[in-house]
Amino acid sequence: METYGLQLTNNSKTGPAFSLPRITCINKTEACWNACYGHGIRYQNDAQRAKRQQNYRTVMYLLKHGGPELLAENLTALIDQARPIDWLTAKISGTETAVPYSLRLHDLGDFVSAAYAEAWALAVSSRPECSFWFYTRSFLDNGIFAALTNLAALTNCQGWLSLDRDNYCRGILAYASASQFWKIALLQEQEESMAPEMIEHLSSTAKPGDIVTFSKTPRWQART
Ligand code: SF4
Repeated sequence: METYGLQLTNNSKTGPAFSLPRITCINKTEACWNACYGHGIRYQNDAQRAKRQQNYRTVMYLLKHGGPELLAENLTALIDQARPIDWLTAKISGTETAVPYSLRLHDLGDFVSAAYAEAWALAVSSRPECSFWFYTRSFLDNGIFAALTNLAALTNCQGWLSLDRDNYCRGILAYASASQFWKIALLQEQEESMAPEMIEHLSSTAKPGDIVTFSKTPRWQART
């Protein structure tokens, strides 16, 4: 019997996350797939895979039966589960929690549709005390990118466009169209794999401080 329900995934070293199966990576590239840490054993055990599948099943079910609004209600309940353990006492005493109240969208997976991104925008705007962040390659479809830009524009959410040798031209255009809301995460590979003009275009377009780079060495390999 198929089960339903949204669950946090806690693989990320940076704290709680919400993840989906990689079927949602509608604009994945050869470069990102080769480097994807989702290949690693930590992400591939049966329990983790089942959790991501259930999340996906539930997302699609809620979108179908109640649209972004119904999904947002359920995502909001999930966001509340990500509160640090001392959140309530810190709120009452007016102090800071020991660890920040934050949630990463998609430790694995990506934004599969505009309706899904809209649901997150509704949920994120309803929880201003929580900080959100996400990386995405789902910027090729105009409708999804518009919905994601609305999400990235929220003051408690930071969006990163994930660029690599395969998608950087479209990525730079997407960034330039709404650079006040986006930052760039660049998958850096060996020099011979990267087009010479890539860095030039990036540095002439992006504002200083808007680019971070990640090494090509897959993190899932580095751990083994
Ligand atoms: S988009 Fe991210 S999660 Fe999806 S295959 Fe690429 S690196 Fe992996």
